[in-house]
Amino acid sequence: MDIDEWEKRYSMAFSSISEILDNINGVFVAYNSNVDAIKHVSEKDIHKLISIVGAKAVQQKVTEYPREIQDPVDLVARLVIAMRDGKAAEVPTYTADTHKWLMDNMVFDKARMGGQAGIISNLLSNLGVNNVITYVPWLSKEQAEYFVDAPNLKYPVIENGVLRLKHPHDAYDVNQLPKINWIFEFSKGTKVEYDGEIFEVPRDNRLIISSRPPWLRIDMSEQLYDQIPHMNGMIDGAILSGYQMIKEKYEDGTTYHDYVKKAVDVIKRLKEGSPDMRIHVEFTSIQNKVIRRTILKDIVHKHASSLGLDTVEVANALNVLGHEELAYAVISKGENSISALYEGAVKLLCELKLERVHIHSLGFYICVASKDFPLTVEEHRDALMFSSTLAAAQALHGDIGSLEEGGTGLGVPISERGHDDLEQLEKYLVRRDVCTGTEFEDGCVCALNHDLIVIPTKVVQDPVATVGIGDTISAGAFAAILAMIRKKGAEDRGS
Ligand code: ADP
Repeated sequence: MDIDEWEKRYSMAFSSISEILDNINGVFVAYNSNVDAIKHVSEKDIHKLISIVGAKAVQQKVTEYPREIQDPVDLVARLVIAMRDGKAAEVPTYTADTHKWLMDNMVFDKARMGGQAGIISNLLSNLGVNNVITYVPWLSKEQAEYFVDAPNLKYPVIENGVLRLKHPHDAYDVNQLPKINWIFEFSKGTKVEYDGEIFEVPRDNRLIISSRPPWLRIDMSEQLYDQIPHMNGMIDGAILSGYQMIKEKYEDGTTYHDYVKKAVDVIKRLKEGSPDMRIHVEFTSIQNKVIRRTILKDIVHKHASSLGLDTVEVANALNVLGHEELAYAVISKGENSISALYEGAVKLLCELKLERVHIHSLGFYICVASKDFPLTVEEHRDALMFSSTLAAAQALHGDIGSLEEGGTGLGVPISERGHDDLEQLEKYLVRRDVCTGTEFEDGCVCALNHDLIVIPTKVVQDPVATVGIGDTISAGAFAAILAMIRKKGAEDRGS
């Protein structure tokens, strides 16, 4: 299909999904919301920070490469490393002192909703999904302020043993401290000079200092857990994320096994009495391989229906599942990387017993789905095009305030490069007799053991912001899937 034809399909897909989005009763979204404090680091800022902690100390720590932030020198050293390499990084800090020190020594430019669950909750609420039940175990007053002020956004609370849904603004815990992550953005060309070192930032990027206070648990009160079935009639699916915060060991003697069990129990409870409930897990990069493997093998495997991830995350997942070579091929820049991505997606689908795996990359998406999934390949493709339109809108505006605003993404052109990249995959699949060139051209392939859907995507040349676009893609496509399943269910009952 040429790009003009794809553009037409995009418009049709966006309007058909927009029309049925309110078929969805609701979506449950948990666990990770936080406040992002954003600071653009200028030459003056970085030099000020270096001079406060001392250039020699920074130089020493740069060589040691701290993996967590224990004191201000660690922080400045990791900032210097990120700026020197122009690479995105996320480093945890387990002490509240880091935030305090930053507040004393810097002023952030702006703050906004952060965390996958927080971003997704606000997005679905803005798109007009009937009920968005958001759950964050650490709902502080500050956190509550970053949820959009809309009646379809609800937070579960237990009052006199009864489940009630209130807006987060009316449901926060007055004693809860906020989880505030710092995001340091820096620009290409910024010059840094200290202790005889001198460099220029090679590209725009960001360093995230992720706060991990001791009270941070992927958890739910017993009372709320007991009441989950009362939510079931109100929701068609759940989007779960934040499992990366599970630690191997806790100060109170509990371990990741305890929290994995709790996470699985919540999913089981969500499905109780609703066998059609769909569970999407949004993956992210997880440094700790034990936790990464456990999340995939013990939480996602058999319990989740759908998985969303980017290409680096595919490689990381394959790596801990014992497919090191394939993982390596995925991240290699060679021409086989896209076929490795497809093979990797099939491995994840089969080995984790999923119904769909949605991989997003810059310029194209690849989705593989099980044959018994209740949607056609064309419907899957509509879901992907809907989500790519939303992604483009988010890159354009930094946020999506309404379904209508989401539609502005249609004006962004489809990436020619992404369209061309897909040719490599086409050649590979045709050579292996997985499909014909014509089938591939439409983006809809019915292979022997799975369905494959590929689309070229819309890419904004100068995005306002890029944080959270991956979450928007996965949540947008999953919502579209839920809406189509609902519509089908209603039609089946009517016939
Ligand atoms: P995040 O966690 O910040 O959302 P991810 O790596 O999960 O980051 O997702 C980023 C995705 O956003 C990319 O895979 C790509 O599909 C999409 N994306 C990034 N930049 C743009 C852009 N300028 N225009 C459209 N889509 C973009």
